[in-house]
Amino acid sequence: MSTETIVAQSRQDDVLILTIQNPPVNAFSPGVPEGLKAGLDAAAADDSVKAVVIIGGGRTFVAGADIRTFNLPREQAPDLRGTIEKLDAFPKPTVAAIHGTALGGGLELAMGCTYRVATPDAQLGLPEVKLGVLPGAGGTQRLPRVVGAQKALDMMLSGNPIKATEGKEVGLIDRLIDGDLLSGAVAFAREIADARPLPRISERGVDGAAPEVFAAARQGIKKSHRGQLSPELIIDLAEMAASVPFADGWTAEATKFMQAKDSPQSRALRHVFFAEREAAKIPGLGKDTPTLDIRRAGIIGAGTMGGGIAMNFLNAGIPVTIVETTQEALDRGLGVIRRNYENTAKKGRMSQDDVETRMGLLTPSLDMGSLADADIIIEAVFENMDVKKDIFTRLDAIAKPGAILATNTSTLDVNEIAAVTSRPESVIGLHFFSPANVMKLLEIVRADKTSETVLATSMALARKIKKVGVVVGVCDGFVGNRMVHRYGEEARRLVEEGARPEDVDAAMNALGLPMGPFQMSDMAGLDIGHAIRVHRARVSGEPEPDGWLDRIVKTGRKGQKTGGGIYDYDETRKPRPNADVQALIDTYRAEKGVTPRDISTEELTKRLAYTLVNEGAQILDEGIAARAGDIDVIYLYGYGFPAYRGGPMQYADEMGLQNVVADLERYGQTPAPLLKRLADEGESFAGLDASRGR
Ligand code: NAD
Repeated sequence: MSTETIVAQSRQDDVLILTIQNPPVNAFSPGVPEGLKAGLDAAAADDSVKAVVIIGGGRTFVAGADIRTFNLPREQAPDLRGTIEKLDAFPKPTVAAIHGTALGGGLELAMGCTYRVATPDAQLGLPEVKLGVLPGAGGTQRLPRVVGAQKALDMMLSGNPIKATEGKEVGLIDRLIDGDLLSGAVAFAREIADARPLPRISERGVDGAAPEVFAAARQGIKKSHRGQLSPELIIDLAEMAASVPFADGWTAEATKFMQAKDSPQSRALRHVFFAEREAAKIPGLGKDTPTLDIRRAGIIGAGTMGGGIAMNFLNAGIPVTIVETTQEALDRGLGVIRRNYENTAKKGRMSQDDVETRMGLLTPSLDMGSLADADIIIEAVFENMDVKKDIFTRLDAIAKPGAILATNTSTLDVNEIAAVTSRPESVIGLHFFSPANVMKLLEIVRADKTSETVLATSMALARKIKKVGVVVGVCDGFVGNRMVHRYGEEARRLVEEGARPEDVDAAMNALGLPMGPFQMSDMAGLDIGHAIRVHRARVSGEPEPDGWLDRIVKTGRKGQKTGGGIYDYDETRKPRPNADVQALIDTYRAEKGVTPRDISTEELTKRLAYTLVNEGAQILDEGIAARAGDIDVIYLYGYGFPAYRGGPMQYADEMGLQNVVADLERYGQTPAPLLKRLADEGESFAGLDASRGR
């Protein structure tokens, strides 16, 4: 496309209009800067032009920089800074006319103009921090000059946009335009055409730039952005905006932008950005796959999971019928749901009316027959194959034709469950994570016969109930729990060899995980893991498990719910090591003839993280996950892996797969064949995903 078509020039009397036409979101990609500069040159050369309006064609202003151009060498990257420099030096007034979103480079472009007008619902923001970078085209220097130090820090550190109505209040928008944006912008441009001096943002000072403001921000990011580089750089630059001439801040910003952009953290966050979008695409499934309308949901079981799952539907305005076996269980389940909503209302995050509206959408029942009109039925009863088979046999007779029959099983074979029905194509696994009303992840388990429509509907449903859906295949534990199972084994082995549980957890906390393996087991309940180990041992004919953790469970310490497990807990739920537990571990080692050794933090971190990677590679090889990126998304949303590390597979890429393999071998583990092959070929998981076109 020619520069002229990407940025069209048109005239309304003495105003030159530059319309950016780079669908779908007018990203600042190659062609846009050239077009804008050509337009400005034309306006400068023509005495009859009194002002310039820059507007986005289609549904939005410039929604941001084009992230795909981040990896281009600087000379090939679209010249946003040069364009803004030209705007800042421009001798005639320029007006940015904003609708849709002006994010990142889009808002920086708008702040390079002398004025900004916007539709009231337009969104304005600098979200760069979310990608581990910072506004690199004047944003850190201009935003504080417009909205003051505090507001600028809030916007740049959260990355969240504000609406144009708020933008007007804080001075970012000069006029809100209710009717036609272009006419309003042109009218505005005529009004200010002769006003001089031009109100250039670069020539203003920063309000509210007290040292305490920056000190408080530095304190704040220790909690909100622990271990991250770009927020620190953003605060440094905002402080410079207030203390050094614009030109110096502008230069420093370019250097710090490159520093942030080239950091592993930014690479990881950009990986996450793309991985999330990719995860929404199911290989082999066309965009036009028909989906079913989900107007009513049925849930079987009002326990821990059933109640939480129901809340997701109620929140989305979808009526739910929930079925239990006894009135008592039903009352208890409904009580928990109501209490959860009332707690939210108490915190002011929901009105009492909202609580009643949601509860009003919920129909309790003791009769599975009441699910006959549900478009989807999710089973969340005890984890027992016979019970589930019985339920699916009955559902087959009750559910209307075409209804989706889903199971929330964590470990059972979805194919086996589907096989008891006459319609296995309608059966799917929907694996929610606990607490199901909070955790964002939904593993969508595709069974052998699950139809494409059921799969596509489940993916769309995930979005509707605000979950991140990732498609996985059938195997014990699916993706997340299968990996975490190996990770738990390795964590216990490390303690057996000599590490203290608190050291193991601390190593993972240092990597950025809010909870290490033992903090996690104490929260989930140690008896649950123990029961799984007992079950597995029985199935495979092995002796009853008797590891140190099994012994702790047998002392009655089951985790947070009994006031203590591997750790003790006080009211703050802060874990404290327990002397009896340590003694039990010592005795266990002595019995096994293990002389405890000191294990370095490096070894702890690598053995735990690489165990995840190794199992992840195996899962990928078996086709249980379609992409390494999907595994990362699962770990971010289901297990608190920090986004700035990108997930376990991206972390391995960053460490280098050859190093990962060498370390695994050094620690006595066998690298998965796929991992070994990629390492031998000098490849990465990201490269594998790309080569598969996924
Ligand atoms: P839970 O024991 O809290 O709840 C199960 C409920 O199902 C009970 O209230 C029980 O009365 C009810 N129930 C049993 N048989 C029934 C029947 N025939 N008809 C109607 N109701 C019946 O269990 P949970 O933790 O909610 O787990 C439910 C399912 O979710 C299991 O398959 C489990 O593996 C899976 N899951 C659990 C978690 C978790 O962290 N708890 C996470 C993901 C998946």
